[in-house]
Amino acid sequence: MQSTRHEIPEWAFEFHGHRCPAMPLGYLAGKYALKLLGIDKEKDTGTYIFSETGDEHHQGCFDDGVQIATGCTYGKGNYKRLEYGKMAIVVYKPGKGAVRIRPKPEILDACSKFEFFKYRKSGVPASQVPRDVADEVINYVLSKDFDELFYYEFLKDFTYNPSKKTMTRIVCDNCGEPTYENYIKIFNGKKLCPRCYEIERNKR
Ligand SMILES: [Zn+2]
Ligand SMILES: [Zn+2]
Repeated sequence: MQSTRHEIPEWAFEFHGHRCPAMPLGYLAGKYALKLLGIDKEKDTGTYIFSETGDEHHQGCFDDGVQIATGCTYGKGNYKRLEYGKMAIVVYKPGKGAVRIRPKPEILDACSKFEFFKYRKSGVPASQVPRDVADEVINYVLSKDFDELFYYEFLKDFTYNPSKKTMTRIVCDNCGEPTYENYIKIFNGKKLCPRCYEIERNKR
């Protein structure tokens, strides 16, 4: 087996569901961003990522890798997808700055030439590609230095103000289910959850 510069924890593959090269590429992009900004993996929500990916092949895999490495997650709400259809991320931590990272096109092209993608193009799901075939392209990615894999650029004036969050829940007057207050809508003097609001509105 080819020796690698980087390692990925096995739980990352378990979480992601299969072995593919885009998740490790995202993982390393995330690691590199943390290194460039001089910050640790985010435990809470004080770091924000804006991913320029969209819904196409490999984009979600890349996003999973970034989330695993950085601790910025869709679930915690500090990982936003911009739907640009590009493989790039902006990582921002107030007081530390913002950096945009993207894989070098020649790296993406080099990955595409591996046998892994012959299987994928013929319709074989990533989880069904033989392990050694998948590991060949994964190890190629892991064998490269950060600066061989990615371009980066610090974004000087980047700012972002997240909306204020609430801990208050209000009981919907129609369904009786607790709903966070920011989502409650008033209709005919009733406090409604978004679902009941839609139902009431469509009755007219
Ligand atoms: Zn994947
Ligand atoms: Zn309701």
